[in-house]
Amino acid sequence: MNTASLVPGETLMRIDGKESPAASGKTYDLVNPATGDVVGRAPDGDAADVDRAVAAARAAMKTGTWRKTTADDKARVLWRCAELIEAHADELTALETQTLGAPQWFARFQVANAAEAFRYYAGAASRIHGRTSDITKPEKPGLAFTIKEPIGVVGLITPWNFGLMAAAWKLAPALAAGCATVLKPALETPLSTLRLAALMAEAGVPDGLVNVVTGGGAAGAAIANHPEIRKLSFTGSVETARQIIAAAAGNLKRLTLELGGKSPVVICEDADLARAIPAAASVLYANSGQVCVAGSRLFVHRSVAEQVMQGMAEMIKQIPLGDPADPATMMGPLVSSRQLARVTELVESGRRDGARIVFGGARRGETGFFFEPTLIADVDPSMRVMREEIFGPVVCLSVFDELDEIMEQLNDTEYGLAAYIWTRDLVRAHRFAAAIEAGNINLNAPGFDYGMPFGGLKQSGWGSEHGPDALDAFLSTKTVYVDLTP
Ligand code: NAD
Repeated sequence: MNTASLVPGETLMRIDGKESPAASGKTYDLVNPATGDVVGRAPDGDAADVDRAVAAARAAMKTGTWRKTTADDKARVLWRCAELIEAHADELTALETQTLGAPQWFARFQVANAAEAFRYYAGAASRIHGRTSDITKPEKPGLAFTIKEPIGVVGLITPWNFGLMAAAWKLAPALAAGCATVLKPALETPLSTLRLAALMAEAGVPDGLVNVVTGGGAAGAAIANHPEIRKLSFTGSVETARQIIAAAAGNLKRLTLELGGKSPVVICEDADLARAIPAAASVLYANSGQVCVAGSRLFVHRSVAEQVMQGMAEMIKQIPLGDPADPATMMGPLVSSRQLARVTELVESGRRDGARIVFGGARRGETGFFFEPTLIADVDPSMRVMREEIFGPVVCLSVFDELDEIMEQLNDTEYGLAAYIWTRDLVRAHRFAAAIEAGNINLNAPGFDYGMPFGGLKQSGWGSEHGPDALDAFLSTKTVYVDLTP
């Protein structure tokens, strides 16, 4: 498929159901990371565009079309969104390939997961209810109950590495809750989100409920600063989250923050290596390591360390790295020249600090932003490669003798997003789950379910996505007391 034809020059943002340029008229280049070529232009939105989007969202909430829609009908619309996402899988896949550099398999994984999010929250729309409580004081008989209401206009800000999926994770619960949204996709990857918004309109989502303002930090900051936006669900870096928290201090909007990670993977001496090795190696190629829950710190028991290193090297040799539009490709480029520079600089810092590059460690080719899958050994916990989120195809390997001896080191990170252990010893696995400081813990093989909360501890975030928790984050609670004195 010729993906270049999908962006006919300039694309537009989406406000109140209509396509629109930025108020300033400014645009910026969209780059294909596999070639470095400019493949289109998008509007560079700012505060004026966010104001327009908030006005449209407020008007949509005021008319109440969506709020008055029955839960069953909301569910039908959200289910239809999932169907349309699946029906347009080829197109959405091509857009993710073109701007993120995602290989077909990974882009399709995103599309399938986006559809699944809408299906889950289609069911949730009819499960929004408060609770009742008897008031037991005999001198003042009565009862109390709570009412759940949409929190209002919400801001949604997404990163480039899971642009389509992150948009679905936020839009589906926000709409199920009855909110109107102002969504800002990442600068690099707005196309799939814009297409998603158009498909949602086709599915029956009323105008003004899904507004997409494209652009960079200025548009994001305007959302964080906006007094009429009651809640902001943000996925991105810790650095940007700090700025958002500072901006939200002025208007006290509620925040959900899904941030970075430096997640440990532990492979014990009794691990099922036939499963553990491919899983550890997948971190080196899946989305080119640009995955928030990537197991980027690998701790292997001394007795199996050589076998794990060799196994990973063997696997990686067979991973086709190249043109993400080729269905055979398993690994594509990094998203941008900036990300390539960051990954290169961090790997170089490891080299300078005395770590050993077991394989990889360099840019691949001169065209596009490809970086080799890289395994780094002989690392020290103080090295930058062990402390900073690299967000590239890089894993740092440490060898251990006793799990108890490394527990402190596993937790010695400002992050707390995910953790993985491979062992056949159930007691050891459960003790690990109790001791590790992470929001998502995987005992033998990574798990994922839309019904379960997904969020980080420590500096990996506030609150969680998925499940009833994410729905609740888009609702406010009123308590009503009823006096039943005769
Ligand atoms: P980023 O923080 O640079 O950007 C994220 C979004 O914030 C983008 O849309 C960006 O334009 C916007 N933004 C930039 N400046 C802003 C400001 N001042 N105010 C408001 N918004 C602003 O992050 P990124 O590089 O796009 O994404 C990578 C990061 O996201 C990594 O740290 C990764 O771990 C994290 N991430 C976390 C999860 C999770 O669920 N925990 C999932 C995916 C990615």
